[in-house]
Formats: sequence, C-alpha cells, structure tokens
Amino acid sequence: MRVIPAQVVYDRVIEAISQISYFLDPEVYSALATARRTEQSKLSRDVLQALLDNADVASKQQIPLCQDTGTVVVFASFGSDVFVEGSSLEEIINAAVAKSYADNYLRASIVEDPLYERVNTRNNCPAIIHFDQVPGDKISLHIAQKGGGAENMSVLSMLKPGTEEAEIVELVRQTVCGAGGKPCPPLIIGIGIGGNFETCALLAKKALFVPVEQPNRDPQYAELESKILKTVNDSNVGPQGLGGATTALAVHILTAPCHIASLPVAINLQCHSHRHAHIVI
Ligand code: SF4
Repeated sequence: MRVIPAQVVYDRVIEAISQISYFLDPEVYSALATARRTEQSKLSRDVLQALLDNADVASKQQIPLCQDTGTVVVFASFGSDVFVEGSSLEEIINAAVAKSYADNYLRASIVEDPLYERVNTRNNCPAIIHFDQVPGDKISLHIAQKGGGAENMSVLSMLKPGTEEAEIVELVRQTVCGAGGKPCPPLIIGIGIGGNFETCALLAKKALFVPVEQPNRDPQYAELESKILKTVNDSNVGPQGLGGATTALAVHILTAPCHIASLPVAINLQCHSHRHAHIVI
C-alpha cells in the first residue's frame, strides 16, 4: 500500500487552483485565436480579441480570468493501493479550496442554504467532489472552477426510448439558442446520453474535461458531435451572444448503458472561461 501524506495532496490542489484561476486552457486559447481569424463579422472578431486579451492580462498579472471564480468541482479517482495519511480526501480538498480562495483573493461564491438565508460560506466551500475507486496506487484529480452563468443554462431531459438523433440535435440547439449570451459563449458543450437521472448529468459534466480537439472514439458519436457543433455554430448566437459563427468551440458526448424504458440526455454548458486541471499524485 502506497502512503501519501495529506500535506502533499493539499499542496498540489492549492497549486492547481491557482493555475486554473489565471491561465486559460491552452487548447481553448488556441481555438479562440483560430475563431478570431475565421469569423466574418468585425463585431465577432472584436469580441474574440477581447477574450484573448482578457486571457493574456489574467496570466501576465495573475488576476482571475473571470470575476466568477466558480464552484470547485473535483472528480477524484482513488487507487485501490493508495492511502492518504492524516485526513480524508474530502477534508484535504476543502481545506485547500478555502486556503487558495483566501490567499488568491478569489471570489467566494457558495451559499450555505440554497433557498432561504443564502448566507455566503465565505471560503467557497464545500467543493463538489465525486469519488470513484480504480486499480493502482495513484490519485487522479480533475479539478474545475465552474461558473454559475453557464451552469444555470444547462438542462437534463428524460427522453423516450426511440427518440431519434435529430431530436437530440434539436434539443441542444434549443438549449444553446435559448441561453443566448447568458452562458458566455463560445461554449464547450458536454453531453451525457444514457445512464439514469443522476449519472447522465455526471456524464455531461465529465464530458467537459475531454480535450477540446479530441473526438469521440465511437465513429457514430463522433459524427453526432460534429453535427451538433455545426448546428450550434449555424445558429448565429456567436461570441457573447452578439452574433457570429463561433457559438461553441467543442461538443463532447459521453454515454452509459441505460434502462429499456429510458433515454436520459443531459447538456452541461461551459463558458469560454474553461478552467480545469488534471493532476496525478
Ligand atoms: S459563465 Fe463563465 S465567463 Fe461568464 S461570468 Fe460565469 S464564469 Fe465568467
């Protein structure tokens, strides 16, 4: 059994949160730069240039990419032959979130009671943490800062089995067009298909972590990703909802087996401020 001191995990999580707060995913930066060259309208090009300038300023001056520094979402895969000594992984991650949000002056955005008092917890805790166990002696952590604007425009629909592909494309189109500029496009669109009510939403969230340029391994789903991307980009929502051909930079689909009576589909929208890191300890 490999033993990892809690301090090691704590330090790595703090480092990752600082990194993603200030440095835009290079693949997203590159996709925005490409869109900046290919957009036809001057307004769209200007918006994309402003997003690139924003990313440059954030990295150079170490200021947050966006004022909404998000909910911290973590997918933690725990090796069956590793043990963290000193504290639970949940406690370590939350302590690291509290410390890095205070030290880096990141906005605390979490309220304790969601409906009535809505008092800010003041340290951006708790993080939302999903655990699973895998073979091996390592800990893998996908860490993201998920902004509220894009999250609010996400949907989950329990479709009927037998629903045709075109209806799913239309559901995504309606979701993106209905959202307009609210989720701060250009978007990354994560889509979960299958599983049940809760796993479908998790698939959609996990799909956001797929590298921007990486298509689905299954050719049928890769083709569906392309169709959805084209449909969404033909919608003229455009950067920040101001029109143009760059509404989304990528569409990723993850699937899971589902019940014969069900076809859950979840659409999780992510804004251009795509902040995430993957660390392996
Ligand atoms: S949706 Fe993203 S870019 Fe827009 S305000 Fe929220 S975090 Fe910032």
